[in-house]
Amino acid sequence: MAADLRFKVVDEAFKRGPVQVELPKERPSEYFGKYVFNKQKMFKYLPAKVYRKMCDVIDNGAPFDRTIADAVAEGIKTWALENGVTHYTHWFQPLTEGTAEKHDGFVEHDWKGGMVEEFEGKLLVQQEPDASSFPSGGIRSTFEARGYSAWDPTSPVFIIGDTLMIPTIFISYTGEALDYKVPLKKALYAVDKAATAVAQYFDPNVKKVVSNLGWEQEYFLVDEALYAARPDLVMTGRTLMGHDSAKNQQMDDHYFGSIPARVEEFMKDIEIQALELGIPCKTRHNEVAPNQFELAPIFEETNLAVDHNMLMMSIMKRAARKHGFRCLLHEKPFKGINGSGKHNNWSLSTDTGVLLHAPGKTPEANLRFVTFVVETLKGVYDHNGLLKAAIMSATNAHRLGANEAPPAIISSFLGKTVTELLEHVENADDDALLVAGKQAFKLDLPSIPELLIDNTDRNRTSPFAFTGNRFEFRAVGSEANCASAMLTLNTAVAEALTDFKVRVDALIAKGEAKEAAILKVVREDIKYIKPIIFNGNGYGDEWKEEAAKRGLDCETSAPLIFDNYLKDSSVKMFESMKVMTKFELEARNEIKWETYTKKIQIESRIFGDLCQNHILPVVTKYQSTLIDNVHKVMSIFPEEKAKAISKENLYLIEKMSEHGAFIMENIEKMIKARKVANQIESEREKAIAYHDTIAPLLEEIRYHVDKLETIVDDEVWPLPKYRELLFIR
Ligand code: ADP
Ligand code: MG
Repeated sequence: MAADLRFKVVDEAFKRGPVQVELPKERPSEYFGKYVFNKQKMFKYLPAKVYRKMCDVIDNGAPFDRTIADAVAEGIKTWALENGVTHYTHWFQPLTEGTAEKHDGFVEHDWKGGMVEEFEGKLLVQQEPDASSFPSGGIRSTFEARGYSAWDPTSPVFIIGDTLMIPTIFISYTGEALDYKVPLKKALYAVDKAATAVAQYFDPNVKKVVSNLGWEQEYFLVDEALYAARPDLVMTGRTLMGHDSAKNQQMDDHYFGSIPARVEEFMKDIEIQALELGIPCKTRHNEVAPNQFELAPIFEETNLAVDHNMLMMSIMKRAARKHGFRCLLHEKPFKGINGSGKHNNWSLSTDTGVLLHAPGKTPEANLRFVTFVVETLKGVYDHNGLLKAAIMSATNAHRLGANEAPPAIISSFLGKTVTELLEHVENADDDALLVAGKQAFKLDLPSIPELLIDNTDRNRTSPFAFTGNRFEFRAVGSEANCASAMLTLNTAVAEALTDFKVRVDALIAKGEAKEAAILKVVREDIKYIKPIIFNGNGYGDEWKEEAAKRGLDCETSAPLIFDNYLKDSSVKMFESMKVMTKFELEARNEIKWETYTKKIQIESRIFGDLCQNHILPVVTKYQSTLIDNVHKVMSIFPEEKAKAISKENLYLIEKMSEHGAFIMENIEKMIKARKVANQIESEREKAIAYHDTIAPLLEEIRYHVDKLETIVDDEVWPLPKYRELLFIR
């Protein structure tokens, strides 16, 4: 049955051929940002004074002056109407997945019986979507259902189809954040302030530090018709059953292999759309697993990069359908082969360059480099459990800890060069590092730059690896909003840098020279952060033991990992850096637990349905055919001979009964466990119950379903199999 479908899909795809994408006549550099109201457009469509004010807002974080809102809205409207736009929407990132939007037309009564296109400043700046249907974790009691979305002028408005999209933040009536963007922006502000103060030790001219993010998005493509025949994929984004394909990724022939023609057209399509929307796409390639691919743009300022990633994910999902695919962003759509992540390449830079860049030019630059690397690691060490919580979800839990992605323990890989550099700074005599009598460093490390550029011993098993001029946070899930990881990391680093400055200043106040004071504190911290540094194999079991000894967070249960948000050290960090209040953190955790529960609940329900309505009936039918055959054999052969002939069938009949019985029994057990869990009041306890009593049953039962798949006639198997889903032709 599924096999017939497969033939049909392949046949149709073959007849149709790849959906050809027409290349724009202009070069990418010419159509880049075509549908973005960027500075070029602002210059053209805004009065000069307003344009200058907008630049000040974007570049220097100046407050957005409401008096220019009408002029800005007017400019945007003119540009939008020229591009055939009829609607606008505030585009925001609620605490569910993805983005949310509510479209309104530009039209207003003209009070002469007609309509006019209208778009005033106040519509640009603020909207009041009904917040009651978005999760708020109890922040919003129903009588205060209102939430506000407010324009974030640092992320430019853009056009999709006939709609003007306005990136906004989303807050409750009482001012609490109901989205990812508000705390992210506060975290970026905190890290700017803290890092600028420290960078000024080395260069007093530094005015601003920017956090950068370059994400690498992994994804799977499957044929749409096959996807539609898998209710589990449709409902949960992953296959809840399915036996291994004989061939999967063992040949390593997909990675960096040539891209199938249909997929190449899809990639072209999404890249053109992305470039038109100002997303600087650069890299595309096959990934390790069959049907798995990756797309990566050049890094950007973190807030913008986060928006661009959200936008990219929706472009991918939409475009896939045009090409007869479905784009899977789930972290683990298929068991037994690699899942998808989203590496978050992170760094800090000033107007004078990347702060984590390979040093070498001057002793000051060398010590500055050491300082920023060490303080980043201090933030990561102090909050390793919290950082894990920031990337944890019901879906990413399948990926972490499996032998393909970083384990569920946060540690950092530095590589040989930087490890040795830190050892040198820690152990060398003062005379070797400070110029006696003068306030100067002599941390000359001329061989460092070459070595770092060549530093290809990238440890793929590390969740937080240093890669030459940045750290790569690799544990982020493919479907996640990068903001969660980025706001946590930037706040942790802001806290470490703030604390660093307090300690250095205290030494200076006691009469220590600035250089000597910095060196002293850096050395203290190099000793302190040792437990977070791990250059070995993160997949090994030895590491789990070792990490536990080092006191790193080794918890693997997602609901318990979320507890990290409410630890004293986390609350203190978020509150002192003015990123989130305890109240907000508590509310967010309610949502995390609730979301976790719902995900497992949906999986468990659809899994039960599939077993009872798809798998078991087919098994019984096939079993009857075999029983029938056995009877017939019995009727024409003497007993002994008949038994010998039917030996295989008898074995299969018995096996099917065993597997079927296990499945039935445990589906019942799972339903009961759900009933018990659903009675639990506390979201936390409920999530724990789902994790402990329901999720494991899914795995246990699946084993038996997958066994049945290998026994039952392919002709009648009701679901497309892995080998059918995983190879695009
Ligand atoms: P990989 O080898 O891990 O696939 P790539 O060379 O494809 O890495 O780059 C991954 C991402 O890292 C890209 O988005 C790139 O722009 C980004 N990146 C490079 N340098 C920095 C930096 N200093 N800060 C942040 N991101 C960076
Ligand atoms: Mg990478």
